[in-house]
Amino acid sequence: MTALNELTLAEARDGLASKQFSAREIAQAHLDAIEKARALNAYIVATPDRALKMAEVSDAKIAKGEARPLEGLPLGIKDLFATQGVHTTAGSKILEGFEPHYESNVSAQLWRDGAVMLGKLNLDEFAMGSSNETSAYGKTISPWRRQGSDTPLVPGGSSGGSAAAVAAHLCLGATATDTGGSIRQPAAFTGTVGIKPTYGRCSRWGIIAYASSLDQAGPIARTVQDCAILLGSMAGHDPRDTTSVDLPVPDFEAAISRGVKGLTIGIPKEYRVEGMPDEIQRLWDQGAEWLKEAGATIKEISLPHTPYALPAYYIVAPAEASSNLARYDGVRYGLRVPGKDIAGMYENTRAAGFGREVKRRIMIGTYVLSAGYYDAYYVRAQKIRTLIKRDFEAAYASGVDAILTPATPSAAFGIGEMASADPVEMYLNDVFTVTVNMAGLPGIAVPAGLDAQGLPLGLQLIGRPFDEETLFAAAQTIENAAGRISLPKAWWA
Ligand code: GLN
Repeated sequence: MTALNELTLAEARDGLASKQFSAREIAQAHLDAIEKARALNAYIVATPDRALKMAEVSDAKIAKGEARPLEGLPLGIKDLFATQGVHTTAGSKILEGFEPHYESNVSAQLWRDGAVMLGKLNLDEFAMGSSNETSAYGKTISPWRRQGSDTPLVPGGSSGGSAAAVAAHLCLGATATDTGGSIRQPAAFTGTVGIKPTYGRCSRWGIIAYASSLDQAGPIARTVQDCAILLGSMAGHDPRDTTSVDLPVPDFEAAISRGVKGLTIGIPKEYRVEGMPDEIQRLWDQGAEWLKEAGATIKEISLPHTPYALPAYYIVAPAEASSNLARYDGVRYGLRVPGKDIAGMYENTRAAGFGREVKRRIMIGTYVLSAGYYDAYYVRAQKIRTLIKRDFEAAYASGVDAILTPATPSAAFGIGEMASADPVEMYLNDVFTVTVNMAGLPGIAVPAGLDAQGLPLGLQLIGRPFDEETLFAAAQTIENAAGRISLPKAWWA
């Protein structure tokens, strides 16, 4: 029999319903796996007591025939979601000791549906990064290794803990957030599936803000179906987030079996970037071929403003971050470092509490919003954002149903390999994903193959606003054709 933590979320749901095992057993199997996988540093904090208590409630519900949709399914929560009474850090020293008195809307909906919390997952500090190397709680190590090498690799970021935990079977699925690629890039690096839904699909209430006009929550899981199940529970209107949209949540799970017959899939020529490895191009061609074989029409399209997306993102995101992070002043939350007066206390707290990358973003953001430079940088970046959005609108208006691109320009890299003097090198990881956040569209990353060194590579599908269903259908088609990537053997246990 497959170990309980190696089941898919859908298999675990069916096994619990048919009483093949109990919620307590599956929770315990995960807690044991987490204990053995400390070397990966995927969890900042595990919550075994809470997990077992929730599992007992689930077992009682199942016994009474009152199982809720996610009854007894153990999940990990990215430590950017506020969890009531549980240390919530955003991967930053500045939130040391912070225990929220409230629960994020997304996690509350998962618990409402019966899911079990295993703990809080590591991330880049304030979700800024693509490698999970900037957390104040240490780097997360990917469960993957290059063939014949024991070089430690990054799991991607910022939801690196979520992706590593899912790939290493330390949870059945995890919450994540994506501001410029932080769900899709780590999913691609770890052979897992991740969807960033349309902006407004999930409530941002109770998620620690990075760049509010770009941030969206979504799941990372081991299959397309598992992602569909989780998103169904995470999504939905919440009056406490004014950008959350009041639309019915479709049956995402039902959409996975729709297929792609009759759909038109766009291939944007501007995503053929210079220096992209041949392997990525081949994978992309293969993905298009699979969709074609399944009945889709493939059409080359143009998204002409693509080259400006990354530079514009690195104006908009730091601008919003500098404003959002102004609240960490040593008065209200976490760390406080005394100073000679109140301004001194603010300065000392922020100097000690924020890491280098966060400080860099705050400085860039403050600069681009300053009176003298606002028009030259921020206003121009917002104009570019509109043009990027229009590119996508034109493609969809021409009859394209979804767009296929690579998820990342490379496979996972080694720890430290990209932490060079030039931070821009790291920013390039998001070249295929930031456009989607700038336009507020849904995007899914699905594993599609392995590179020559045995590392997973992912493809991305981008959809029309609020049409995650087509993404699930097309991603399922790719998953069927590519076969599920078998995850690495537990070298860490
Ligand atoms: N890597 C991007 C950044 O650092 C995106 C991060 C994210 O999506 N949270 O801003």
